[in-house]
This record gives sequence, structure tokens and C-alpha cells, in this order.
Amino acid sequence: MEIERPRTDAATAAILIWQTGYRLALAVLAGSIAIGLRVLGSLQLSPVAELAIGTELADWLVPIATLMYVAMVLVIRAVVRRTRTADRTLSTLMVAADLSVVFLLVLLLARPEDYFFGLFIAFVSLQLTHVYFGRAPALLMLVATAVSFLLLNDIADRHGAMVSWGRVMVTLVVFGAGALLVTRVQSNLQERLDTLVSIFQKAEEGDFSESYDVAADERPDAITSVGRAYNRMRTQLASIVLTDPLSGCYNRRGFEQQFRRELARAARSHTDIALLAIDLDHFKLVNDTHGHLVGDRVIAEAGELLRANARADDVVARTGGEEFMILAPNTSQDGAQHLALRIVEAFRRRSFVEPTPRVSVTVSVGVVADAVPNDDIAEDLRARADEALYAAKRSGRNRVVLWSQGLDALKLRQTGETAISRRT
Ligand code: GH3
Ligand code: MG
Ligand code: MG
Repeated sequence: MEIERPRTDAATAAILIWQTGYRLALAVLAGSIAIGLRVLGSLQLSPVAELAIGTELADWLVPIATLMYVAMVLVIRAVVRRTRTADRTLSTLMVAADLSVVFLLVLLLARPEDYFFGLFIAFVSLQLTHVYFGRAPALLMLVATAVSFLLLNDIADRHGAMVSWGRVMVTLVVFGAGALLVTRVQSNLQERLDTLVSIFQKAEEGDFSESYDVAADERPDAITSVGRAYNRMRTQLASIVLTDPLSGCYNRRGFEQQFRRELARAARSHTDIALLAIDLDHFKLVNDTHGHLVGDRVIAEAGELLRANARADDVVARTGGEEFMILAPNTSQDGAQHLALRIVEAFRRRSFVEPTPRVSVTVSVGVVADAVPNDDIAEDLRARADEALYAAKRSGRNRVVLWSQGLDALKLRQTGETAISRRT
């Protein structure tokens, strides 16, 4: 199925403005040549025009048509420049002016057997219209061209010219078939380019879910090659854009994307989702004691340790300097607490940067787990996890705090060195 993406009015405006330069140059050139040749007497008026409107009027109409066209182009350009926008009416008006001047000059200057010149010029214009304004205006122009060509021949016929309608029809059919073929090919190119643009725009925002459908291209070409190259690089690009190179966990961008996706999934399936906010305790001291390089290695190993303790479906992200988040889909409060305790315990038992300097680091964890009524809960969940983390820090660090309503007022229940506050 072919989908046409309409161009924006601002884009149409920009195209119209640069095209007016070419239109004016062509009109002035063609008009001057025609008028010059008429003055020199080396260009005959069309006998049909002479019969239909008289030699004098036909002669005047050549410069008048040229000047009117130039004036029309200038007015449209001024309007577009002032408003900085152009809707379909303006581009249609411009194309209508093109067709009118072409066929009027053909009527005035060409013999009936040379009317196909009009089709030839319209064919070029049709191509440009399709490239810059899309398929619908191009098809409209195709119909208008065919009607103008028939009208021209009808005028000639009615004024005594020998019009072979068989030839007229054959010419028209060949023109129409050629134009439709070119339009179809052009539409296909445009549609696939639009697909690529949309895929790249998504990738720019960190969404690498879509690949280019190479198999759908019946006749592979340069666009297919770009699509194939993108598909080859997709995994690497995703890992570069969405992963934190130090810890190997998702970075903030990767986390946001997964968070949105998992929230939507939880809302659909009516399952709980858990969020753990994790912060390394007194990390400044690690840097001050062992230096930043050791600090970096601790962060890298901490990321590994968190991933090792999470499930495959969990999203482990480094969301700040020494701050991590774990998003656990389909996880209740009990499950989230277990995971948090397991992590606190793992850090407590672990010594980082072996064999030396063997750094000990503990973590504080804020936990929230809830059902997901809709996607809007994202900010609430995050704020609650942070609030619980803050409570864990305030109450002595190296512990887990589960978020509950009125957390500030809660007395934290101690479990060894690990404090867990439960909902009252
Ligand atoms: P708290 O227990 O309250 O969290 O104490 P803290 O010292 O961990 O927290 P604070 O926010 O005071 O300091 C965080 C430290 O983490 C300070 C900063 O230099 C260090 N840090 C942040 N990012 C990095 C990093 O990428 N590498 C290293 N080596 N240190 C980092
Ligand atoms: Mg810290
Ligand atoms: Mg911190």
C-alpha cells in the first residue's frame, strides 16, 4: 500500500520560493525569444490562433501572457515570503499558472501537429511537481494536462485545422501511460525514503525497535542498501546510544525508554511493577581515599554485581554518577524487597577492585512497588523510590526502605543492619 506523507506548509513555502527564481528566468527567456523572433518576423503565429482571435490580438497575447505569468509568480512569491507558509492552494495555483501559460503559448505559436510540445513541457513540470509537492498534485496536473491538450485540439478542429483525433488519442495515451509509470516509480521511491527517515528519527530518540524491511523491496536499489546498512548497525547503534560504557548498564536514555515500555505493558496486563533506587554509600570517601580511577572501577564492578543479582527481565540502569535504578516488571512488594535485600547483602559481602586496593562499599536502596493504572504513574513511582532511598540514607545507609504513605513519619524497623519499613 502506498502512503503519501503530506509536506508541511513551511516546507512547501521554502520549495515555492526557490522554484520561483527558475520560473521567472524561464518565463523571461522563453517570452523574450518568442517576442524577439516575432519582431524579426522569423516566427509565425499559429494559423488556428489567427483564425480564432485575430492576428493582432494573438500577437499581443504573447507578451501579455508572459507578463501576466511573471506578475502571478511575483505575487505568489511575495505572499509566501510574507506569511512564511504555503498551503496546497498556493502550490496548486502556481502549477495552474504554469500549465495555462504553456498551453496558451502553444495555442498562439505552434501548429496543431506540434501541440505535443505542450505535453513535453508539462511532463517535465509534472515530474518536478511530484518530487516537490507529492503524488496528489501531480495526478491532478496529469488530468489538467490531458484536458488542456484535448481542448487545444478541439479549438484547432473547430477552426478548420486538420486534426487527426486518432493521432491525438495515441499521443495522449502514450503521454498518460509514461507519466503514470514515472509517477508510480517516484511514489515508491518517496515512500521508502519516508520510511527510512521515520526509522532514523526514531533511532535519534533512542528507539531502535524498527528495522528496514529489505525483503519488501522488489527491485533492490540504493535505498535498499541504506536500509540494509542501517539494519546491520542497529544493534551496535542501540548499544552505543542506550548503554553506559563504564558500568555496562542502561544509561538514563535507555532506562527512560524501557521504563515507558514496561509501564505500558504493566498497565495492559494489570501487573505490578517495582522500582529500586540504589545509591552507593559514602562514595566520595572512596574517591578521596583511592582516587577517581579506582572509584570508576568500583562503579563498573557495582554495575556488574547489580546485573548479576537482577533477573533477565529486569532493567538495570546507571542513572547518575554512583546512582543506579532497577526496574523489575511483574514484581510485587515482597519480590522487590527480596531483590533489594539480596543486593544490599551482595554489596556487603563483596570487596571491589581485587586484589588491591580491595574496597568495601555498601548501598542504600529505596523500593516502591505498585499496580500500574496508567502510564502517568511514572513520575510518582520515581519520586517515591527516591523518597524511600532518601529515608534509607537518613536512617543510617546500608539498608532497604520500602516506600509507604507518610514515610517520613514512619519509624524504621531494623533487621540487623538492614531496615525495612512496611506499609502500615
Ligand atoms: P551518600 O552516602 O550520601 O550517597 O554519600 P556519597 O559520598 O556517595 O554522595 P555524594 O553525592 O556526596 O557524592 C557522590 C560522589 O560520587 C561524588 C562524586 O565524585 C562521585 N562520583 C560520581 N560519579 C562518579 C564517577 O563516574 N566516577 C567516580 N570515580 N566517582 C564518581
Ligand atoms: Mg552516594
Ligand atoms: Mg548519589
